Amino acid sequence: MAAVRVPRWEAGRCGVCRRRCSGYDPGEGRRRWRALDLETCPTYLEAAAPRVRCAVHGVVDAAVPWARHGAAHTRDFDDTAAWLVTHTAKSTTVQLLRVAWRTVGAIVTRVSTDAQAQQDRYAHLRRISLISKTWRAQRDLNPRSQIRSLVLYPG
Ligand SMILES: [Zn+2]
Repeated sequence: MAAVRVPRWEAGRCGVCRRRCSGYDPGEGRRRWRALDLETCPTYLEAAAPRVRCAVHGVVDAAVPWARHGAAHTRDFDDTAAWLVTHTAKSTTVQLLRVAWRTVGAIVTRVSTDAQAQQDRYAHLRRISLISKTWRAQRDLNPRSQIRSLVLYPG
């Protein structure tokens, strides 16, 4: 187990939006996050987990740079589990990282949500074409029935 603390410039931020907030209380004391094993030794990070009062999200756990909000695992652990699950069977991931089946699912959801929030899937979109493929739809004058598929051309 490694005792860590949030650097001064990262302290007092909302766990959801990471805006700087006023402190609320010390939370439930010290908290642990599961980290990637050091060789065969299970590793945990332990740190104080204060709560802050965010103007948007209310009273929430303060952000920590090593883990996503609400996670019991470090960001590296989450990323490794998500990568493993895309390259191996889920059962292999469960055995290799020594986590529960449901935990892998929760980690994948968390990593996926985080990745989607960081990118705009339509940022490079240049053109949208509507194609009608059926003869019946082409003869139909109702424009709504002519829309059969949407083709997106990423720039
Ligand atoms: Zn917030």
